[in-house]
Amino acid sequence: MKIRIRDIVSGGIRVDHTVKAQEIGLVEEEFIDPDSVLRIVADLQKVNNFVLAKANVTFVAENHCARCLERLSRATTMALDIDFEFAPRDEWIDLGDRVREELLMGVFPRALCREDCKGLCQGCGVDLNTEPCECKAPHKAGQDNKE
Ligand SMILES: [Zn+2]
Ligand SMILES: [Zn+2]
Repeated sequence: MKIRIRDIVSGGIRVDHTVKAQEIGLVEEEFIDPDSVLRIVADLQKVNNFVLAKANVTFVAENHCARCLERLSRATTMALDIDFEFAPRDEWIDLGDRVREELLMGVFPRALCREDCKGLCQGCGVDLNTEPCECKAPHKAGQDNKE
């Protein structure tokens, strides 16, 4: 997802791109399906030898409930501030490349399938949301599993 530096006029421009995760190199990450789509909306400003981007990236984040480990897919928007330094001979910046890097470094919030998820029994491992537990392990309801 390259942007020509000279297209960034004074006053700035807004770009709005929709790309598949795999098109910006997100091919085997747990938090995103490579065939899913990201929308990247960015305001770009040129300041001296920098391009400053304020981007909102919307995608479906794949996650697991921190208690019962159920798989979750949730629409997420991340706000990113990205600076590109460029040399006079540079023609392009690669926004997709940097969005990938930022997402790889990003901290995804701990997720719960629902606020009152009972989690898994520490003793027998049953999902306490759906099955009664018959083991004798003490139940600590609402405890997070450590991955
Ligand atoms: Zn859960
Ligand atoms: Zn149990």
